[in-house]
Amino acid sequence: MNRRYRKTIIAGNWKMNKTLTETRAFADEIRPLLGKPKWCEVVLCVPYVNIPAAIRYFKDTRIAIGAENCHYEASGAYTGEVTAEMLKEVGVKYVIIGHSERRQYYNETDFTVNKKVHAALEAGLHPIVCVGESLEQRELGITSELIAYQVKAALAGVAAEQVRRIVIAYEPIWAIGTGKTATAEQAGEVCEEIRAVVRKLYGARVARAVTIQYGGSMNAKNAAELLAQPDVDGGLIGGASLKPADFVQIVNAANQE
Ligand code: PEP
Repeated sequence: MNRRYRKTIIAGNWKMNKTLTETRAFADEIRPLLGKPKWCEVVLCVPYVNIPAAIRYFKDTRIAIGAENCHYEASGAYTGEVTAEMLKEVGVKYVIIGHSERRQYYNETDFTVNKKVHAALEAGLHPIVCVGESLEQRELGITSELIAYQVKAALAGVAAEQVRRIVIAYEPIWAIGTGKTATAEQAGEVCEEIRAVVRKLYGARVARAVTIQYGGSMNAKNAAELLAQPDVDGGLIGGASLKPADFVQIVNAANQE
């Protein structure tokens, strides 16, 4: 983390978990545990249907509500989809774009990721753009090239002043939901490379200001070590964000003075 230049952000990704009742119970449970984190922003990305209620339930906490996806068009015949503007209007602040599960199960490509990034920015949301390599790609030694390509493709056509509103999440696919975490060095190395790509595209000042998260089995035990890496500015957290006590411990690790 480097709080002098950029925000630290801890974001939960609930995926397809928690009913409305469970969302309210989570809010009630986390409220007294969380306090008022001063040094990091806390976000929970929840299923669409629970967003308006979650915004109410978490209103008196420091938790901002995010979405897990959006469509790239502004309106139209896309049954089952939701626009970035719809999210913005109900009070969403962040939106995850290009999560590996969406790339894998819903055929999202670098091209659609880029279109979604533009749609989210236009609506005034903060995109959390996910990039990451598979185990095979890591073993082939092409992680750096692949991540650089994904970052460049996601940011194509994005202006420098907009890039500051984007969060990039480095999420090695082999570490998501597997209990296998990248070592702090592996996470730090790729996050540093991502910043170097942003620097090449937009210059040092923009690169210094961009929040880059690590995601992949981050938990209460390993968070402090991962966050100690200078280019790891927070986490995108799946499993451990479903348990209030675990999530709070990760927030606390990011909130050390
Ligand atoms: C994720 O879904 O973005 C994620 C990192 O999941 P987990 O923490 O469960 O690996």
